[in-house]
Amino acid sequence: MPKTSKIRIYADVDLSVDSLVNLTPEQSHYLLMVMRLTADEKILVFNNRDGEFECTLLPQSKKQAQLKVNFQTKKYESCPDIWLMFAPLKKDRTDFVVEKATELGASKIVPVITEYTISDKIKIERWQAQTIEAAEQSRRVDLPQIDEPIALSKLLENWDSRRRLYFMDETGSGTDVATVFSSAKPPLALLIGPEGGFSAQELNLLHSKPYACAVSLGKRILRAETAAMASLSCWQAICGDWKKE
Ligand code: SAH
Repeated sequence: MPKTSKIRIYADVDLSVDSLVNLTPEQSHYLLMVMRLTADEKILVFNNRDGEFECTLLPQSKKQAQLKVNFQTKKYESCPDIWLMFAPLKKDRTDFVVEKATELGASKIVPVITEYTISDKIKIERWQAQTIEAAEQSRRVDLPQIDEPIALSKLLENWDSRRRLYFMDETGSGTDVATVFSSAKPPLALLIGPEGGFSAQELNLLHSKPYACAVSLGKRILRAETAAMASLSCWQAICGDWKKE
């Protein structure tokens, strides 16, 4: 990493100017041994609630370090209230979706089990670690929340209809994405099907819900991870926080 861009880490600690923060052994190891930082070097720290702060590294030993909080560099702000819900894929592809969803500013990531979902065991802790890494790198000051996996039927049963649900429909029956998203204000959720697509029964169920809206991403069939990234990017560009006020 070039010296001009400061190392940035997430720490689940209270951050206030002039306070001292104890780092975990893992964080200390990362800063002292992996990044080879030395006493008095400056890093950026955020905690998913107070914003981002510049801190000075105070090594206590080779394995343990503290931080002195100097000043606030960013106020806390949450990403727009957009959930990315997708049927988990094979490990690498799921990792990709979780990382990119964090970069693209999803506020919540929900693993949804559908009829044709084929996935490795879902490890929420692994997903959480990936969101932290992606948030550190992308300069987010909040972390996306990650829900426990839920069956599609259950998800729809308990749906709060104030949140519109946009499901990506590869059959082409949906409205084109630019038209749909021109008036898609938060709160909302995007739903992407598995590699095998949604079953006919699932599509019928989705179409029957007054809060749900079918979206087309064009005439080519996209892989699920491409559809996830394309829909999130389109929403951010048309209606989300890529737009300058
Ligand atoms: N096996 C299916 C494709 C599934 S693609 C087939 O061959 O027809 C995986 C998911 O990506 C789909 O369930 C859908 O949510 C999304 N998707 C892919 N291409 C899409 C498109 N052109 N429009 C809308 N959604 C799409």
